[in-house]
Amino acid sequence: MIGLISATAAGTVARDRLAAAWPGRTLVYEGPVREAVRRAFTECEQVVCFLAAGATVRLIAPLLTDKATDPGVVCVDEAGRHAVALLGGHGGGANALAHAVAEVLGCAPVITTATDAVDVPGLDTLGLPVEGAVAAVTRAVLDGEPVELRADAVWPLPPLPANVTPPSPDSRSSADSPSSPDSSSSPDSPSATRSRAVLRITDRIVGPGDREAVLRPASLVVGVGASRGVTAAEVLELVASALRDAGLSPLSVAELATVDAKADEAGVVEAAARLGVPLRTYPADVLAGIDVPNPSGAPLAAVGTPSVAEAAALVHADELLVPKRKSSPEGRAAMATCAVARRAPRGRLAVVGLGPGARDLLTPRAREELRRASVLVGLDQYVDQIRDLLRPGTRVLESGLGAEEERARTAVAEAREGHAVALIGSGDAGVYAMASPALAEAGADIDVVGVPGVTAALAAAAILGAPLGHDHVSISLSDLHTPWEVIERRVRAAAEADLVVTFYNPRSRGRDWQLPKALAILAGHREPTTPVGVVRNASRPDGSGRVTSLAALDPATVDMMTVVTVGNTATREIAGRMVTPRGYRWQNSTAAGREDAK
Ligand code: SAH
Repeated sequence: MIGLISATAAGTVARDRLAAAWPGRTLVYEGPVREAVRRAFTECEQVVCFLAAGATVRLIAPLLTDKATDPGVVCVDEAGRHAVALLGGHGGGANALAHAVAEVLGCAPVITTATDAVDVPGLDTLGLPVEGAVAAVTRAVLDGEPVELRADAVWPLPPLPANVTPPSPDSRSSADSPSSPDSSSSPDSPSATRSRAVLRITDRIVGPGDREAVLRPASLVVGVGASRGVTAAEVLELVASALRDAGLSPLSVAELATVDAKADEAGVVEAAARLGVPLRTYPADVLAGIDVPNPSGAPLAAVGTPSVAEAAALVHADELLVPKRKSSPEGRAAMATCAVARRAPRGRLAVVGLGPGARDLLTPRAREELRRASVLVGLDQYVDQIRDLLRPGTRVLESGLGAEEERARTAVAEAREGHAVALIGSGDAGVYAMASPALAEAGADIDVVGVPGVTAALAAAAILGAPLGHDHVSISLSDLHTPWEVIERRVRAAAEADLVVTFYNPRSRGRDWQLPKALAILAGHREPTTPVGVVRNASRPDGSGRVTSLAALDPATVDMMTVVTVGNTATREIAGRMVTPRGYRWQNSTAAGREDAK
């Protein structure tokens, strides 16, 4: 819940706008502000105060306890010009809240946490739990000081700034000792007397140095077997000791796993909840099919698989780190078993559509994925379109026209190495673009995320009017990948089916006869007056769009930056706009026609 507090008439107006914009998410606190703030502070995850920053600081100061539990606090000034993230920028979500409030109220967000302000991801925003000297290492990252990255494996993280680098090959021998002294800086620099800052990514327990932060990847799966009536305490104690003895961090546990028959076993369910991880269950026959070192007769008789703990740990993991062990409660028989396995990181491939060109037609999700990726793969001219949005440290692999297959292979290969990769395309990346060659190449060993974009047909339609109001198709006239006979057959089918047609790749210097040919086929089924929309560079600075007709269109005015949308027999030009009726109202004599027009 987001608590809202105001003191003045203007503040109350803004408060009510926010409450109306976010139904069910906010709670208005009335009455004297001191008491209102006190209650909101303890009852809500986030608080927005429509008060001066100074007043808000005085009111919340006595309530502060610690960074991990205090709510995120945003204050909005009396004039409604700024939404200031005052407290809990990252952990409390105040930075994101300030952006959201600013969007609703039409004011400017004010963010003062260093990492956001300089566009470097905070160590606590990388999507992994972090512990150790977080503040000291963050400062080193921001100061541009060399920070040594010691990762057990490649994890699909957002880009890290250029000063965060793996140890150089000659210093690698000392890489495993915590915080080796910084030998690379000159004797005069202050850091010569300090140990080097280290950012580690590991599931192993390390004695972190005083300038070392540790990111915990979600790499461990704990398989659990249990007798009916087991307590959560017994399960948790067993898991904790198994991890401790193997030198593994509980923060790296991704999930608990067991057999379907134990899905409702209260002690196991509660143990997962207390660890803050999901409980995943598998049918007995799936577990029975997993090769394990320590099968036994007891679970086979009870639930139908010779192994629960080891098999459940291994279904979606690669390496067994802790073989089955039993709990050792005092004075009675053990009721729980567990085993721990590690899974290799999975790379992440985001296939991102950038939209037709204009920045405000790039979706917020696409923007987020571009900043989430540490490797960006794309055609050079598309990379130029969004280069300013990339985070410092993003590795950009750009290539020229025609290298589609190679781009697809590169993107997938980088993801296979474990990186977070964004493969970009204009419009929608799945429409005559990179998604298909990339996914034809990708296996089940990487995660794939698609982000839809505004494709050229839609961008053009919005300029033309409403040409796509009824059934329509897109046809690419490029015969580079498709034989002309196939294209022609499809144009003919669209003509016969009276579909509105949008031609992509309509005409280039070397391919100039295809468009007239396609238009002639359509003209065989439609009047010469049928409206045709020609849109060039939709949403780009030099964009243009016009409505002409089948008879009047001059193909020479069309190039590769253009889409051509041909109306069907119902499409009309109305007030200069191209309109295809939703229903066939021109058949207004029939009831069916009226039905359809609804
Ligand atoms: N993936 C893209 C299409 C790639 S095929 C999309 O979804 O839009 C390339 C063709 O798309 C071009 O030849 C042109 O016909 C069309 N196109 C792409 N962007 C365009 C724009 N901004 N204006 C007009 N046509 C465009």
